[in-house]
Amino acid sequence: MNEYDSNRIFDLTKKIDYLKTENLDEANCYVLNTCHIREKATDKVYHDIGRIKKKFRKKIKPIVLVTGCVAQAEGDILLKKEKYIDAVIGPQSFHLINKIILDIEKKQKTINFTEFDVIEKFDTLNSLKNSCNKISSFLTIQEGCNKFCKFCVVPYTRGAEYSRSIKEIIEEANQLVDNGSKEITLLGQNVNAYNFEGKKLSDLIFEISKINDLKRIRYTTSHPKDFTQDLIDAHKDCEKLMPLIHLPVQSGSNKILEAMNRKHTIEEYLRIIERLNKINSSIKFSSDFIIGYPGETLEDFKQTEQLIKKVKYINSYSFIFSARPGTPAFELEKINKSEAIKRLIIFQSIAEEIKIKYRESLIGNISNVLFENKTKDGNKYFGRDEYLNSVIVKSKESLVGKIKKVKIISGNHNTLYGEIDSFLSQNNYAA
Ligand code: SAM
Ligand code: SF4
Repeated sequence: MNEYDSNRIFDLTKKIDYLKTENLDEANCYVLNTCHIREKATDKVYHDIGRIKKKFRKKIKPIVLVTGCVAQAEGDILLKKEKYIDAVIGPQSFHLINKIILDIEKKQKTINFTEFDVIEKFDTLNSLKNSCNKISSFLTIQEGCNKFCKFCVVPYTRGAEYSRSIKEIIEEANQLVDNGSKEITLLGQNVNAYNFEGKKLSDLIFEISKINDLKRIRYTTSHPKDFTQDLIDAHKDCEKLMPLIHLPVQSGSNKILEAMNRKHTIEEYLRIIERLNKINSSIKFSSDFIIGYPGETLEDFKQTEQLIKKVKYINSYSFIFSARPGTPAFELEKINKSEAIKRLIIFQSIAEEIKIKYRESLIGNISNVLFENKTKDGNKYFGRDEYLNSVIVKSKESLVGKIKKVKIISGNHNTLYGEIDSFLSQNNYAA
């Protein structure tokens, strides 16, 4: 979502002639767009500002803005501690960025903009074309969260759940497709809680799938509690919907899920997976895990191990519990740090083993790959298959924006290498 927000910030600042630059030494304005989900985010801001200061020691000071969730959560502290910062702007206030920059140019004081103006923000953004011209692009449809998991800052930094209207989302999706996008990932902190005047995520998916030149649709991140039958059915009925579902579970233990206030049990979670596999056996899953949540015993952890072995996630994102100030879990007694690290290492080695086996099983298979760009070295093209695996092939003709059938020949941890299957691709068997 920060990538989406950063692109929209560039769309806004173009209006006052502040353009994106790759030349960091010459920038007149720095925007540090931050995430607050785990610790160290604030330290990173201070480090980055230290680097900017060094670059500009003998030059005119650039404008320095801190945007995003760190600004929301710790804006006042940042402004007090680091005088080099000109303004902090929360994630629901960045539509005001042009006024803020112009005020700073006029040498006004440091500013804290951390109101929750989500409606005003999207009203402003809707009046600007989305200029992102990537083959695969993001589109925020929903923001904020009402779930209040005990460990999470999102309800406090992004505010309450808000869903954009179907009309404005379709308009933006059409802009992205006109710019060349073939794939859109619908974004939300709780994307499947999307609800605009009774229209749900599944309704939106079917509406967007009517855009002819759009070939692939994804959505992230879903919450198990909101995974309703209509969304499950969409995976049967909408061909453009990709068969990889990111469904965070956090823990394999019901006791820990309850302590986290996740609002579902492991049995309910597994039933969603079962129902999805039943209607579409090609669906695969990825997930997020928090290891060493306060109160997690060895037995709870073993249940998490069992869960990943059962579901065989093709990607597992795991982190040790990070105590975030202002959340209810911040006050809880932490488990021993070295024990938490030990569990994380065990977890990640099991997850890795599952991933390696999965990737080995792809060798010799045919994958549908959407090509995104030419690589820097030679006539090679980079793309992604339906499961977001990175694939590189050699080709004399440009493949950018095309979906081809690719035979996977080899692979390493990050990338698969393949050859275009000309017969299948020419006969248009690619989706
Ligand atoms: N809304 C999604 C859900 O509930 O499934 C997840 C969104 S959250 C922004 C992304 C991930 O960050 C979570 O799934 C969780 O694993 C991780 N996360 C959030 N707070 C954390 C914390 N305090 N410590 C460690 N990981 C955390
Ligand atoms: Fe955070 Fe997701 Fe829980 Fe909301 S549902 S509080 S975003 S982890």
